[in-house]
Amino acid sequence: MSRHQPARESQAPPKPAQGPKPAQGPKPAQGPDPGQGGRPPVIELRGVARTYPGPPPVRALRPADLVIDAGDYVAVTGPSGSGKSTLLHLLGLLDTPTGGTYLLDGLDTGALPDRDRSALRGRRIGFVFQAFHLLAYRTAEENVQLAQLYNRTPRAQRHAAARDALERVGLGHRIDALPTTLSGGERQRVAIARALVNRPSLLLCDEPTGNLDSHSAGAVMELIDALHADGFTIVVISHDANVAARANRTVAIKDGQLSEPRPASAIAEAGHA
Ligand code: ADP
Repeated sequence: MSRHQPARESQAPPKPAQGPKPAQGPKPAQGPDPGQGGRPPVIELRGVARTYPGPPPVRALRPADLVIDAGDYVAVTGPSGSGKSTLLHLLGLLDTPTGGTYLLDGLDTGALPDRDRSALRGRRIGFVFQAFHLLAYRTAEENVQLAQLYNRTPRAQRHAAARDALERVGLGHRIDALPTTLSGGERQRVAIARALVNRPSLLLCDEPTGNLDSHSAGAVMELIDALHADGFTIVVISHDANVAARANRTVAIKDGQLSEPRPASAIAEAGHA
């Protein structure tokens, strides 16, 4: 990988993503938790690998180094069977590597007991899936509030944060709607509101437009672009070249091997050195 950085010390233990707000600070749904100064990369993989045991064993992710800094917008592309889901599950703390070290916000995730990994996932990662994964008999607001289960914030604040998040995605007028009464694009926007309500360090999007018509897909990608502009760190996994083209960095995966072509700007810089 092209962006290897020296090891850094782990930071203080995780703090709730929805900490006390400064009096004039941004609204919860307007951007990620700014955290402390001098923060480590959001994601740092050092030789992370995943082999499924088989038989025969499948080396779904070969030892990979990857650094994703706060504010990055990264697309992960690759054909079917190349290892995208494997990488997504590892980055999302839904699976554990069979080799290497994964630091999330400087925290060594391999050193954490399961309960702490789940709490870290709930606070620091917002997921957006192709199939939305909304509860059908819960309103848009209730679906968003489900993401706040790990927060000990009072109910009124959870309510306000959910409303803010739904307003941020343009659905402030549909907070009481059931998913069955929403279009595909609106459902995905509820899912995005749920993903961002805790001001996560990372928005992890898995084929976010895969179930949408082209018009709704465009609107959802514009929303994701806007969240990036607000400061969110975004990883989008997609085989769709149009989706990948919007990111600032593209990481390719093929037969479990990650690679990152040097961005044109870096090549130009090297030429002037
Ligand atoms: P993609 O998401 O790009 O389609 P995957 O990450 O799902 O790729 O799969 C990568 C490789 O790992 C494929 O060869 C797939 O068959 C294999 N694989 C995925 N999950 C398992 C599993 N649970 N057990 C064994 N092999 C698996």
